Amino acid sequence: MRWDSEERRSGGHREHSIDDMGTKIIYFTVNGRPEQAEFPVDCPAQSLKDLFRSAAEAGPHDILKLYNPKGNIINISPALEPNAPNSCYKLEVVAADCNSEPLGILGLKVKRGILGDFERKLQSLEKKILIEAGETPAIVYEMKKQVDSFREKLESVEHLSWLGLFKDLSEGAHKPSPFYHKRALHKTREECEHVRETFLEMSSLQVSEEVRQYLKTPTFDNWQWEDAEIMVLLQVMYTDLDFTASFNIEAEVLQHFLFEVYRHYNNIPFHNFKHCFCVTQMMYGLIWLTDLRNKMESVDLLIMLTSAVCHDLDHAGYNNAYQINARTELALRYNDISPLENHHCAVAFEILEKTESNIFRNLAVDQYKRIREGIIKCILATDMTRHNEILNKFKSILPAFDFNNKEHRDVLMMILIKVSDISNEARPMEVAEPWLDCLLQEFYNQSDVEKLEGLPVTPFMDRDKVTKPSSQTGFIRFVLLPLFIELANLFPCLEQHIIHPVRKALDYYTEMEKALERESQNWAQSENAAKAKETAADGHADDAASASKPDQ
Ligand code: 5GP
Ligand code: MN
Repeated sequence: MRWDSEERRSGGHREHSIDDMGTKIIYFTVNGRPEQAEFPVDCPAQSLKDLFRSAAEAGPHDILKLYNPKGNIINISPALEPNAPNSCYKLEVVAADCNSEPLGILGLKVKRGILGDFERKLQSLEKKILIEAGETPAIVYEMKKQVDSFREKLESVEHLSWLGLFKDLSEGAHKPSPFYHKRALHKTREECEHVRETFLEMSSLQVSEEVRQYLKTPTFDNWQWEDAEIMVLLQVMYTDLDFTASFNIEAEVLQHFLFEVYRHYNNIPFHNFKHCFCVTQMMYGLIWLTDLRNKMESVDLLIMLTSAVCHDLDHAGYNNAYQINARTELALRYNDISPLENHHCAVAFEILEKTESNIFRNLAVDQYKRIREGIIKCILATDMTRHNEILNKFKSILPAFDFNNKEHRDVLMMILIKVSDISNEARPMEVAEPWLDCLLQEFYNQSDVEKLEGLPVTPFMDRDKVTKPSSQTGFIRFVLLPLFIELANLFPCLEQHIIHPVRKALDYYTEMEKALERESQNWAQSENAAKAKETAADGHADDAASASKPDQ
């Protein structure tokens, strides 16, 4: 019993499809490739199905369909009508089983849980029906629709978004990591349309002077504003820094640009559109607080603000370490060199490539070139693995900082975007703390996925090791304060605006850390006490038991 392909057959075709030994020959095609199956007339049906399955390179749960030359579906059984090579049957795999090897090897079968089981059952049901009835009845379609809608719901729960792997696998077999998918994180068309309409309606309204002033301060509370309103606030920044007038940015183009930016931030816990706004708003605040308009050229400020707007575009919620370890598309494309930052920047310039959203479209070629170079420099500087390199450079030029020196200005611009990027703790506690929850949600999700995929687990993301205070005390002491202090050396007024609140946050989380330690000590003590009591009770019981024993 065997199947063979046209190419591998040495001689010509036989005239008859049943030979003298009782062997049937069936001629068929798979994906246009001619094949033939030879089997004894009395072979078991299952063996024949397996034979066709291997000819189609299908997995054990795939659904196969065989059509006769007239195009009708026929049952795969040893009773198949023998045919001639010029009237081939056609074999098709109609449902690929996404549970086969790659995921099995990763030990993920179990983790896919009920949904996976349900899909498998549905597939096998469909397979049976197809074989027996020849077509899928409406009820099965309805059930499939319900499973799909349930899966969609699951995918919209952010921390479960990796369940989207089902869809991704069916899209392409060459994804290095089954978890690397972005589609489920993308905003829906309806969501975008709604926000766009609201934004356009609102953008014609005047933003009050009070809000305009508030927008210039690091105490601004992002949580009170919806996405469409945030887009209006971003528009205000471009207007109030005179960019729209100085660089001839038409209102419609700016709106289009901001909408594209909004659309390209994903629905993930931390690196989302609101984070983009916070970073931009901090940059905007720093520009005003340090009176940078009187120290630097307007084009440099335009570069900084636009870099902040674009700096995390299309972030999928997994950091560079993950990208590299999981060998994702981004890591492959950028050869492990700041894959995310390169991607954010590339997406930014894709948006700017379109005339209708190119806020720099009225500028001279040289100026565009300068802006492009500046934005690339700023966005690539947000890779935290370059933190010490950039901070050390800044420290070295600080004693003789000169605003007329381009190199000095470039480093300052990088420092300003870095400060803005990690400035949540410089905000009032009630604004900052929810951001930490968002960050940890994204971190924990990544480390969960790393564990599931057998990748190295990023230690500061591990839910078994990291708590809110443990995450913040080290970060504030060793990253935030050393960076912020250097910037405040250049602009002493920043001391009160960004260093004081960060010190307050450090005190707050240090206290929280101590309280947690006390709690765990108390817990350990009460555990020990309980154990001691138990042992004592056991001892008494033993005593009692031996006391009750009759004398030997
Ligand atoms: P990103 O460019 O990814 O927005 O920011 C840089 C990185 O700095 C973040 O991904 C995160 O690892 C770290 N980071 C930013 N803010 C905080 C924070 O408040 N706490 C901690 N622990 N890390 C932060
Ligand atoms: Mn960021």
